[in-house]
Amino acid sequence: ADTPTAEEVAQSQDVLERVFGIQSFRKDQLAVIIAVRRRKDVLVLMPTGGGKSLCYQLSAVSEHERTNGCGLTVVVCPLISLIDDQVEALITKKINTLSLTSETLNTSPIKEQLRYSRPAVRKRGQLYEALREMYSSGCLSLFAIDEAHCISTCGHDFRDAYLELGTLRDEFPDVPIMALTATASPETITDIVRRLKLRQPLQIKQSFNRQNLEYSVKTKHNQDELIGFIKEGHLNQPGIVYCLGKKKCERIAKKLSQKGIKAIHYHGCLSRADKKSTLKKWKGGIYDVVVATTAFGMGIDKADATSRKLGELGVTGYPRIYDFRDLKFIRDLTPSKKETGPQHSIQRENAALAVARYCEEKVRCRRLMLLQHFGEEGFNKRECRENCDNCAQAGLIGMRDLTNEAKDAVTLVKQLSASLHRLTVLQCIQVFCGANTMDTRKIEHNRSSLFGSGKSLSKKTAELLFRQLLYHGILFEEAVQNSSYKHYYVTKGPNADEFLTGNGTFYIAQPHARQVD
Ligand code: ADP
Repeated sequence: ADTPTAEEVAQSQDVLERVFGIQSFRKDQLAVIIAVRRRKDVLVLMPTGGGKSLCYQLSAVSEHERTNGCGLTVVVCPLISLIDDQVEALITKKINTLSLTSETLNTSPIKEQLRYSRPAVRKRGQLYEALREMYSSGCLSLFAIDEAHCISTCGHDFRDAYLELGTLRDEFPDVPIMALTATASPETITDIVRRLKLRQPLQIKQSFNRQNLEYSVKTKHNQDELIGFIKEGHLNQPGIVYCLGKKKCERIAKKLSQKGIKAIHYHGCLSRADKKSTLKKWKGGIYDVVVATTAFGMGIDKADATSRKLGELGVTGYPRIYDFRDLKFIRDLTPSKKETGPQHSIQRENAALAVARYCEEKVRCRRLMLLQHFGEEGFNKRECRENCDNCAQAGLIGMRDLTNEAKDAVTLVKQLSASLHRLTVLQCIQVFCGANTMDTRKIEHNRSSLFGSGKSLSKKTAELLFRQLLYHGILFEEAVQNSSYKHYYVTKGPNADEFLTGNGTFYIAQPHARQVD
């Protein structure tokens, strides 16, 4: 029953050529379009640039024609800039398109444009009313929810307004819903289906493996390395440097410009006009590098860009996971205004640890890690073809057995966290390394039997050990909110007891040359 009929194919093909000027469908596009034609819900998971927009654009035209010009498709999009781009592109294809945003909703008389005989829709409530009437006259064809992961609190792009989309199914039960996203873990997908109330949707899941992308993470010590990276091998090439803060974007863009790199900053506080012109100048090659927060990137389609955003990490922007302060910063990244219960803070903690673990990983294939994150099983790391730094450097890394040191460290944390003075990870490391500091003297931790049990390790290795113990859930950082500041105290993690009593081993990866310290 799922095989399209000759007529269905011919009609879609006709619209593709006639309206879009394209000769052939890309993978899965036709299946999506046929499903909508049969009024089925669809969930489309395709990488950026895979051709998601065409799926609903073509469906929209097709349904409009099939209903003799009454069928309306409503596309929901989280960013005004994306809406503008699409509307512009569709109008040049002579597709009758209208944008409704917080900016136009109050001013634009959409009466004629929605071909609807009521007074101008001026408020969101009235929009719903207008849609309701179109619905009852059978003229509502499709809801397309672009960037659908924004409805899920699991991810990092959660938007409050998207939550309201849950009412579409209740209000307009017969209208098919197409949810589209390029970033969704299995949990996020389940969440999208549940919140949009999709009914046994056709699920299209394309592989996220892109042979043309190369993954690598480098530890950044200072900004000169970034400048060097761009100048040696990437000069005059388009790229994006992602930073964690707005001020930082401005600072780095300025610094790059001073060094002769055509760079500009981009973040959420720019005016809409500035955002638009920045994007335009970058696309047009007037600037090579955009230094941006994650406000930049959703839906960017630039044919020659050498880098693409990967979650919070820029391919050309080096995350600097070097000490525990950064981890704290990453934790605070996940924005959410609603639903900040204990469950959500655990999700957030796990997400932060996953990012940190990804950055510090020296052995596992990065491609494999990312694909697993998106729930793709069955990818063989040989397919990476040394296209990630870990696979490329496999021979240079050795495993160092730190089982005994790890057990001492965990026992020490258990002892210390039972005392009245709660300690941070860094303080614990001082005790572990037997440092003679104010902290260790003051609270007499130097009397602990395990004081200095990690003396043989360099400070750097001891810190790496503690971080790895955190990533493996053997240690845990507990957040305690003070009046204005969040403190993180170290305690044993969920896997601590099993690790201490079992015969598990604990290795850390280090470059061969540095194995002895
Ligand atoms: P996504 O929304 O998945 O990021 P888009 O729909 O914006 O991707 O498509 C990316 C680019 O590919 C666009 O320039 C679009 O015109 C083009 N494209 C989409 N489908 C096809 C197709 N079947 N054949 C050729 N080009 C296509």
